[in-house]
Amino acid sequence: MNRYGVDHLPGLPASVTICEVGPRDGLQNESTLVPVDVKVEFVERLVDAGHTVVETTSMVHPAWVPQLADAEEVLRRLDRRPGVRYPVLVPNRRGLDRALDLGVTDIAVFASATESFAKANLNRTVAESLEMFAPVVARAREADLTVRGYLSMCWGDPWEGEVPLSQVVDVAARLLALGCTELSLGDTIGVATPGRVVALLDALTAAGVPSGRIAVHFHDTYGQGLANTLAALRCGVTTVDASAGGLGGCPYAKSATGNLATEDLLWQLDGLGIHTGVDLTKLAETSAWLAERLGRPSPSRATRALTGQGGTSSAG
Ligand code: MG
Repeated sequence: MNRYGVDHLPGLPASVTICEVGPRDGLQNESTLVPVDVKVEFVERLVDAGHTVVETTSMVHPAWVPQLADAEEVLRRLDRRPGVRYPVLVPNRRGLDRALDLGVTDIAVFASATESFAKANLNRTVAESLEMFAPVVARAREADLTVRGYLSMCWGDPWEGEVPLSQVVDVAARLLALGCTELSLGDTIGVATPGRVVALLDALTAAGVPSGRIAVHFHDTYGQGLANTLAALRCGVTTVDASAGGLGGCPYAKSATGNLATEDLLWQLDGLGIHTGVDLTKLAETSAWLAERLGRPSPSRATRALTGQGGTSSAG
């Protein structure tokens, strides 16, 4: 609860599910290698803080993402609690087999709205990447898993610039047709602004995609993460991705801020009286704890303000 006061705004949901992506999307973009013990404790602390969806790790080949080479060990050691979902990123059939062997019940696949990023990230065309995911999603659905489809570069691409709405809607529809249970729309380079967010969500609604199937994944590179979130909530979105402490830089703009920080998001949602079930104080303590292990302060403004980390002065 925010001791500075709570006021509601019309047109917003009563509750929001936060998809905490710190352990996967956050750590994946951190250069300091984090030991397995710390990763397991990190996920458990996030759940202790009240998170019910924590994206835990990724089954990508260790050569691509050395930080997450210990995925199987993390999943084996983790005390997975009932009522909490621990999604795992799965790039292909082999990754799905490994995930199923470890009792994973929620997976995510990673697609791109643009050809340039599909080529850079997956070394495939958009169509080829969807062909690769088709059997993965089908088999996961047969096994009753939830499947989140990430869609990158929805609001801009570093090579292509502006991305046509129709192009994003087309790939989104194809992901849902494959059987994805949820779409996470990614502003991978953080260039979106609120009007652009509404334009895409309106286009998806017009194409018949229910807002309940959509999550938003904003990056704070240009300081727009919270404004974009508010715009999305007003369009009926109730699932928001965020990373504890703002973990994970932006891989395409060196030293720029990447993922929206969960604490910054919570400060806003708590102040609006929107229920999340996540305790801001516990979460900020967890982020400060992890920042110490990474050897640098959290980039989250709320975390710094709440924990005194980062040497910010209140003078002036
Ligand atoms: Mg991200």
